Amino acid sequence: MAINLEDPKKLKPLREQVHQVAMNMLRPISRKYDKAEHEYPTELDMLAAMADGLAESGQGEGAGATGVRRDSKPDDGKVKNGANMSSVLSVSEMCWGDVGLTLAMPRQGLGNSAIASVANDEQHERFDGIWASMAITEPGTGSDSANIKTTATLDGDHYVLNGEKIFVTSGDRSDAVVVWATLDKELGKAAIKSFVVEKGTPGMKVERLEHKLGIKASDTATITFTDCRVPAENLLGSPEINVKEGFAGAMATFDNTRPLVASMAVGCARAALDYTRDLLEKAGVEIDYDRPAHLQSAAAAKFIQLESDYEGAYLLMLQAAWMADNRQPNSMEASMAKAKAGRMGSDVTLSCVELAGTIGYSEGELLEKWARDSKILDIFEGTQQIQQLIVARRVLGLSSAQLK
Ligand SMILES: Cc1cc2nc3c(=O)[nH]c(=O)nc-3n(C[C@H](O)[C@H](O)[C@H](O)COP(=O)(O)OP(=O)(O)OC[C@H]3O[C@@H](n4cnc5c(N)ncnc54)[C@H](O)[C@@H]3O)c2cc1C
Repeated sequence: MAINLEDPKKLKPLREQVHQVAMNMLRPISRKYDKAEHEYPTELDMLAAMADGLAESGQGEGAGATGVRRDSKPDDGKVKNGANMSSVLSVSEMCWGDVGLTLAMPRQGLGNSAIASVANDEQHERFDGIWASMAITEPGTGSDSANIKTTATLDGDHYVLNGEKIFVTSGDRSDAVVVWATLDKELGKAAIKSFVVEKGTPGMKVERLEHKLGIKASDTATITFTDCRVPAENLLGSPEINVKEGFAGAMATFDNTRPLVASMAVGCARAALDYTRDLLEKAGVEIDYDRPAHLQSAAAAKFIQLESDYEGAYLLMLQAAWMADNRQPNSMEASMAKAKAGRMGSDVTLSCVELAGTIGYSEGELLEKWARDSKILDIFEGTQQIQQLIVARRVLGLSSAQLK
């Protein structure tokens, strides 16, 4: 199967529609919620209802965080641009509008992507329409997610959860949290399973919210679990501990969510590039794509370099999503896309601040905000260094024990 690295034509209307939403509904409230950290952006309720309506009518199918479920229909051998592709394209357009507000969108949490990725059909139906956040990180566990200490102990028809999760995006506002916990610490990473814990479950408590550098519209919570009883049927996927499979089950989520985070960086960088191009043109800087960069002004040459960096990330994002839609294993490509886009997002937005000078640094415009917002995209869902480690292991054929 060959990849055509152009925007799929059939997704153009969806993309244009989302772009209009980003421009007319997110941009106007961007600064407001950057200033009012922890205040819920009520404007998003209408937007989320619109997205639900589109999904129900079949028009917006696959767009957003829930769109990453891999197709279970029989493979007809034809090349597909499906739910993963529409998700990355629509999420990047939303993030062209505002990354923090996109992350705060009801029913579009990373927990929703986890459910879409690993839930069985019954669970998929049961959790349809809920807003789910994702809780992996703990005070003693970040990149080393195999080291999770939160425990889940079977007691009758319930699991009893105990532990603490930190930095849970939408952890306060979401209807449920997808919690990673271990069934048996002795059995290592194969025993780590994810559990859907619904809001209001006794024993689950939001302790505090973080103050952050960027994405201030998105709430980031610390949540504790104390003898928190969760119905056994809320364990996502299989309860079996398959030591041979190891971490593969839980990790499958990342193959779908990392391209999505890459698309956020792509969208935010595009916002900065679009704004800076306008600014340079108004200042009389001509950007000529037919002439070598070194023969142009320093500002034009820098801009061309930033755009090529952007283009590289954009193509890797398309590749990772396309492979997911076409049922090809994409762990390495998902990490490549996330590594490249995460780094590019920070470099491009900060370089645009530099090119725009005082305008770039001022709160009068959104450039400085985009530079702050983009940094997180190089940290969560696996940092830059961790993505590079994963790619290196795949390229060199080494296991996680051999290359740490
Ligand atoms: C705003 C925000 C939102 C978040 N949302 C969520 C969420 O919704 N759910 C969730 O579970 N988590 C979330 N996180 C947590 C995030 O996923 C972690 O911060 C991330 O995984 C890194 O873990 P850490 O902060 O403990 O850093 P560490 O793992 O302690 O890493 C510190 C530094 O060391 C580097 N490093 C670590 N190991 C290696 C290695 N083997 N080789 C080379 N370098 C290495 C890292 O890249 C990093 O630069 C969020 C974080 C933030 C800031």
